[in-house]
Amino acid sequence: MMQLPDHITLFFLFILGASFGSFINVVIYRVPKKMSLIKPGSHCESCKTPIKPYDNIPILSYFILGGKCRNCAAPFSIRYALIEALTAFMTLWLYFIYGINKEFFMYIILTYLAIVITFVDSDHSIIPKNYLLIWIAVMAIGITLGWFLIGSENGVSGGMILTGFLLVIGLNRIFR
Ligand SMILES: [Zn+2]
Repeated sequence: MMQLPDHITLFFLFILGASFGSFINVVIYRVPKKMSLIKPGSHCESCKTPIKPYDNIPILSYFILGGKCRNCAAPFSIRYALIEALTAFMTLWLYFIYGINKEFFMYIILTYLAIVITFVDSDHSIIPKNYLLIWIAVMAIGITLGWFLIGSENGVSGGMILTGFLLVIGLNRIFR
């Protein structure tokens, strides 16, 4: 692994985490509404004005703009900045636990997915089964390749307990 001074690694990971947080916001907002992730670009929900790249800096832009659209002054929810900060800090936390290795990347994917699932659930009271299937696939690949430090038995039972539980709730809704 490359040897960078730790504070540079932390800074870089924080920026990277916050940027992924920005993308996670888009996923949380758009995927349940079956909107494209790419088009249109970020815009004010109120006046539809596209948000300029310099007004789209994760975490910071909310505070620079005083929580308002630069064009029409409609308020922006602070939740976007909070999710960006949460994602950035979770990224640092995983780095402190694992360093940069395969486990780090596996847990990053699961953690980001968990953030998406949490907020989609809180907004719409749904946990899309596709997210659970991605979760199961990531667990299965990680366990098979030995990329988790946990033994395969614990990994499989842990994965089954979480996703199985959620799937049962989901199936329950379908057959209700
Ligand atoms: Zn606006």
